[in-house]
Amino acid sequence: MTNILEVKHLKKYFDTKAGVLHAVDDVSFSIKKGETLGIVGESGCGKSTLGRTIQHLLPATDGTILFKGRDVTRLSKKETRDYMKEVQMIFQDPYSSLNPRMTVKQIIMEPLLIDGRKKKEAESEVRAMMETVGLDARFENAYPNELDGGRRQRIGIARALILKPEFVICDEPVSALDVSIQAQILNLMQDLQERLGLTYIFVTHDLSVVKYISDKIAVMYLGNLVEYADTEELFAAPRHPYTRALLASVPTTDLTKARKIQVIAGEITSPIEPAPGCRFAARCQAAGEKCACIQPELIENGENHRVACHLYGAKED
Ligand code: SF4
Repeated sequence: MTNILEVKHLKKYFDTKAGVLHAVDDVSFSIKKGETLGIVGESGCGKSTLGRTIQHLLPATDGTILFKGRDVTRLSKKETRDYMKEVQMIFQDPYSSLNPRMTVKQIIMEPLLIDGRKKKEAESEVRAMMETVGLDARFENAYPNELDGGRRQRIGIARALILKPEFVICDEPVSALDVSIQAQILNLMQDLQERLGLTYIFVTHDLSVVKYISDKIAVMYLGNLVEYADTEELFAAPRHPYTRALLASVPTTDLTKARKIQVIAGEITSPIEPAPGCRFAARCQAAGEKCACIQPELIENGENHRVACHLYGAKED
């Protein structure tokens, strides 16, 4: 299978009064068509910024984003518009991302009208899409606040899929939902992936969700990718001390039970003008001298398994 997306040395920095914030710092990975890559980490680790930079909602500071072999950081305005049709986003809180003054039909139809579709044609596409995502036709004239959280997220999914994208970036799409509704939405997303041949990036802080939905997982810490592996492998043999701490902090990975990530001990380093060395060093019980001054690179450590930690350095001959 070929890679549909390759991200190489991607950086997204923000100028702040306190200095330059390194939200995404030299991140590289690839995804094959039809796969789901879960990106997991605590809040503030840069995972949502990474998703938004890939979708072009934020311009990249440096690096390349190859989508089907083309560098999308160098597209013209027209090419960018076409790219943003092929790569859509589903957001965390459907309530705040949906216009409360528009009906369900208007919300789902808007991207089609902007794309130049005639109203009649657009209406029949909306009806078909509502059926695809399991939204009853009787809701087409309802407003978002008249529907429950699960149905609101189905509207968000329908709007994201109405232009028939190949790639969808899902930013915490089930975090605002009750545990019982989460499973329904995740099952719907898996079903849609198979039926429509979609590829997903799934951004979340919830390890149980990411385990359930992802083929591969990338773990982020303060702007860096610190571990990347197949899902089964990552849960069976986590390498990076941060991944291990994350896994140990989740009391259950059962999707039907309430889960809460406990806070990992130690101070989080600032992502503003970060000091040299490993960014996890202040919280790492295995930190050594080298960790304070040399930043570890993400290198192979096992089949399809990469880790950025001096404990797993390149083998010397
Ligand atoms: Fe811990 Fe050092 Fe590995 Fe960083 S590089 S995770 S500080 S052992």
